[in-house]
Amino acid sequence: ARSDRDMEQVSGAEVIAQALKTQHVEYMFGVVGIPVIEIAVAAQKMGIRYVGMRNEQAACYAASAIGYLTGRPGVCLVVSGPGLIHALGGMANANMNCWPVVVIGGSSERSQETMGAFQEFPQVEACRLYSKFSARPSSVETIPSIIEKAVRSSIYGRPGACYVDIPADFVNLEVNVNSIKFMERCLPPPVSMAETSAVCAAASVIRNAKKPLLIIGKGAAYAHAEEHLRRLVEQCKLPFLPTPMGKGVIPDNHPNCVAAARSRALQFADVIVLFGARLNWILHFGLPPRYQPDVKFIQVDICAEELGNNVKPAVTLLGDINAVTKQLLEQFDKTPWQYPPENSWWKTLREKMKSNEAASKELASQKSLPMNYYTVFYHVQEQLPRDCFVVSEGANTMDIGRTVLQNYLPRHRLDAGTFGTMGVGLGFAIAAAVMAKDRSPGQRVICVEGDSAFGFSGMEVETICRYNLPIILLVVNNNGIYQGFDADSWEEMLKSGDATAVAPPACLLPNSHYEQVMTAFGGKGYFVQTPEELRKSLSESLADTTKPSLINIMIEPQATRKPQDFHWLTRSNM
Ligand code: ADP
Ligand code: MG
Repeated sequence: ARSDRDMEQVSGAEVIAQALKTQHVEYMFGVVGIPVIEIAVAAQKMGIRYVGMRNEQAACYAASAIGYLTGRPGVCLVVSGPGLIHALGGMANANMNCWPVVVIGGSSERSQETMGAFQEFPQVEACRLYSKFSARPSSVETIPSIIEKAVRSSIYGRPGACYVDIPADFVNLEVNVNSIKFMERCLPPPVSMAETSAVCAAASVIRNAKKPLLIIGKGAAYAHAEEHLRRLVEQCKLPFLPTPMGKGVIPDNHPNCVAAARSRALQFADVIVLFGARLNWILHFGLPPRYQPDVKFIQVDICAEELGNNVKPAVTLLGDINAVTKQLLEQFDKTPWQYPPENSWWKTLREKMKSNEAASKELASQKSLPMNYYTVFYHVQEQLPRDCFVVSEGANTMDIGRTVLQNYLPRHRLDAGTFGTMGVGLGFAIAAAVMAKDRSPGQRVICVEGDSAFGFSGMEVETICRYNLPIILLVVNNNGIYQGFDADSWEEMLKSGDATAVAPPACLLPNSHYEQVMTAFGGKGYFVQTPEELRKSLSESLADTTKPSLINIMIEPQATRKPQDFHWLTRSNM
């Protein structure tokens, strides 16, 4: 006789949900519609947290941030055609950042393929350029193995984006449960170590350095290398510089952190050890005049193809950063060594740090209104909880904010990243907040947005309010992209012609009340113009744990950075 189990049918949607659960996927972000609604419902029933967003791009940013924060990919669930295409931005950003994410896209029915089906698009091909792995299971029965492969590929080797295509006719197809073989959860990524001789060589180059510098990138953050890196810094007394998202791996206020002398540290170091940081535009390609022509680079990376990009390294350490840092520590345990403290290298770094910090403080203390960036960030920094996530994007907002806002914990800063993507902020903040609400209640997310950056995904404020997420949005508002006009100049300009003919492309509407986007959905909104108003609204927002808030901070429309030794991104300085 047949048992009940033999008769049991499962739908394609249920198979997907079960396969994701088996692979330990905890979070799914998406926008539902035909044909993926049933997948979201099944996932939620299976205990996967489902966060419904307002645009697939933001959903994909959120899912990828989960991958960076937890080491296990988040899933982004999207509908066919346009839904999938909106998610490509998120896949590209994740892939560039080396963050794991799995995108699941519904697609048109197989029987209608090439006939001009509803939202038909070559999705598997489209995703290939934005991912490490892109495939469609050949049947409902093969869904679990394809999902296992997608999850595994997203976290093994250099992490990145993966795509699984689900034809509409799979979703409600009922198959006998016995025909499905659920793969076991894939093993954690294998840990690789560098060759011993290379480790010895690296230690020897470090020992002989006159002006050493460690650079800590977001690869080190992803690798959870914080403990070993801190030991290396403290035991050998080496100066270190975090990259934007490497901030917090070792706390920003550590005495060996030379972030405030960034340009000088890069320019004069004779030995630089890169822990999970590529020599791309963020690090000025490792080339003069930003570096000494004969600087010795030691590269630590999990991706062999990265080693030797743009420079010829003195030593390459291919392996997991945490494991390789431990190998280096063993060398320095065997033959202890310390870089001499307070020598001329330290002196030149400290000198520069002091003068840079003084220049920022000077700008921050200016009493003129509207406020400048530095004034805003100094007041924010004073109240920032030590354990908060800082999400940030914008041009000056992000660049200046990064120098003032401190990170004390690893993987607590999220920003525009390797791809320089604007519009990531709200998705990232939502991911961090959903996770925080789950795992460490009380923890806050501070999302510092330029007014232009905020606009890309502003409607995600509804998502924030719907789930009542512990997010405080700060919109640093200068009425434009890079710079804008004040209200009077705007009015004056309109006299000379229609706005489409005369408004500078970088201008946005002056004095926009972005805080009303938050109040529209029941959150708290503040419009602030003075340091006192800023302080008060931020302390109220931090004290109120019952709802999210948005503080719209008006700053001088023409405010800029303090003078720089080198201009970011200008060709002549490459
Ligand atoms: P940043 O933007 O902070 O400079 P990048 O994204 O440029 O950082 O570099 C991160 C690097 O870290 C990538 O080259 C990636 O291959 C590497 N990476 C990621 N995870 C690991 C790991 N566990 N061990 C070693 N390297 C890693
Ligand atoms: Mg702006």
